[in-house]
Amino acid sequence: MANIIVAGCGHGGLVAAIKLAEAGHSVKVYEKSPRGQIGHAQSDAFDFDTFTYADLPIAPYFKRGRNDITFFPAAADADPLTIPAFDVDSYIVDRKELIEYLIELTENAGAEVIFEKEITAPILLGNRVVGIELGDEKIYGDLVIDACGVSSPIRSKLPDFLGINRPVGKYDIVHSYRAYFNRTDAPEPRYPYQLYLQKDGTIGFSWMITEIERTDALICRFYNPDDNEILEELRDLQEKNPQMGTDMIYGGCRSVIPVCQPLGMLIADGYAAIGDCAFMTIPVKGSGITYSFKAGKMLADCVLKDTDGFFDAESLWDYQRRFFKEIGFGACHLAILKNILPYLKKEQVNELFRLKIINSNELKDIMTNTANTIFSTKGIAAIRDKIKMAGNNSTIKDILSNIVVWIGKFFVIEAAFPSKYDRNDIQKWVRRYNDFFENIKKPD
Ligand SMILES: Cc1cc2nc3c(=O)[nH]c(=O)nc-3n(C[C@H](O)[C@H](O)[C@H](O)COP(=O)(O)OP(=O)(O)OC[C@H]3O[C@@H](n4cnc5c(N)ncnc54)[C@H](O)[C@@H]3O)c2cc1C
Repeated sequence: MANIIVAGCGHGGLVAAIKLAEAGHSVKVYEKSPRGQIGHAQSDAFDFDTFTYADLPIAPYFKRGRNDITFFPAAADADPLTIPAFDVDSYIVDRKELIEYLIELTENAGAEVIFEKEITAPILLGNRVVGIELGDEKIYGDLVIDACGVSSPIRSKLPDFLGINRPVGKYDIVHSYRAYFNRTDAPEPRYPYQLYLQKDGTIGFSWMITEIERTDALICRFYNPDDNEILEELRDLQEKNPQMGTDMIYGGCRSVIPVCQPLGMLIADGYAAIGDCAFMTIPVKGSGITYSFKAGKMLADCVLKDTDGFFDAESLWDYQRRFFKEIGFGACHLAILKNILPYLKKEQVNELFRLKIINSNELKDIMTNTANTIFSTKGIAAIRDKIKMAGNNSTIKDILSNIVVWIGKFFVIEAAFPSKYDRNDIQKWVRRYNDFFENIKKPD
């Protein structure tokens, strides 16, 4: 049986830890925070099939989430768009409770979770990751599963020749601020779940959800906003939403959310990246719990097939291949669509709504992470129709034409994804993948 290190209490890492410990491996999880202080102070949604896919029991207190989001452009004469209720239903859960529940499942499976241990770097022997450093302490293992989140000190210190780490660009992440305020006596709003696209695409967005007993404010920016900007935006949300009181009752935390394509290379000899560490989120909205869970199951299945215990890139390739086929390429499609945001000024966002170039069914597709209707021959024809709808707005026409070109180029990259492990072929493909996304993005 192998010694497996899980770095950080990321969701995917814990799912893999459960499965691998259940199968008899010796699994140790190292987490920098104390028990009880892990996870965001907020409630988030994840898909119904998340736990069933990972074959894990659903906690009885998980509640169903709402999903009827209304998008608000800035111009008063451009109608807001409410997306129809999702076919894919979701649970909504307090993040601290969710992570504690997963930690309990991990411990019950026989893995050890060691708190207040901050990982500082990977240990390498040639090409192979052989362990982790916790300051002066060195821990060795047969496989390191990196679930340390978006700023992982392991991934970010891997040598370039492994092809895993890539620089994080300005539009690859959003800086978030999330806080819950008391609910005033103001009547229920017409749209309880509001997403504001009221600034230039280079800035970001905000939301306001009116719940029965509280209101939920989220501010996301492509840069790290200072406290004054956060306060100003909160006041603006309060003005627009009389249901939002001024007493903060939960949260008030800042964080970073990846909103880009997944890493092109997830694995090396003795190493696998998972969850936010590998940018496994839905790029248009930064939801990553479901992806992390599913990737955790895929990784565990792959590791369990390696009965020789090599855990080298060749035996871990099946994890990467399955992830891209089931999830990763879909995430890439959304990353391509999200890529238009920084190219849009506020007026162009308004025009997209005013001219009805974007409709509620398409928004639903994007929010439910399918975008299938857009990434098809029919979808490309539909974008061509939209180019006509843009009339003489040349900026919108150019942006829509770019999407058609990007989709075409990406189809070729997707088709060239190596079906078998060959180090040279894979490194070549990863370079092509990274170059594609580098070339389409708006310069920082
Ligand atoms: C405001 C906000 C809203 C979101 N809304 C949603 C949503 O509605 N639905 C959804 O699915 N997702 C949502 N997400 C995204 C979601 O939080 C992540 O995608 C998800 O948590 C997967 O990330 P992870 O588990 O891999 O990493 P993380 O959740 O970041 O966990 C990483 C863990 O590693 C630990 N760690 C980090 N560094 C070290 C170190 N050096 N040593 C030891 N331990 C370390 C951290 O303490 C943490 O426990 C949201 C995120 C934010 C910030």
